[in-house]
Amino acid sequence: MTPKLSPFCGQHNKNKEWRQTEFTYNEDGISIRIPNVYAWVCPEDGEASFTPETADELIVALREFVDAAKCVRKRRSVLTEYVVAVE
Ligand SMILES: [Zn+2]
Repeated sequence: MTPKLSPFCGQHNKNKEWRQTEFTYNEDGISIRIPNVYAWVCPEDGEASFTPETADELIVALREFVDAAKCVRKRRSVLTEYVVAVE
């Protein structure tokens, strides 16, 4: 499902490219990285624009991961980094 019209980066006067990028989020000492997310990416500075569908999914995922991370912190686990993948 590749969107057809590529958005334009007015800052760099370039069309954005549909490719994978890494989404990162930091809150309150918790950092979350979600690699390999498709988005419109500015070839100049890598700024990503996510489609509304992807943004919705990211919001749901972030809420779950932040909650999970807070539970980990609460029990003072020695495990501080997790890599999870779903096939
Ligand atoms: Zn740009």
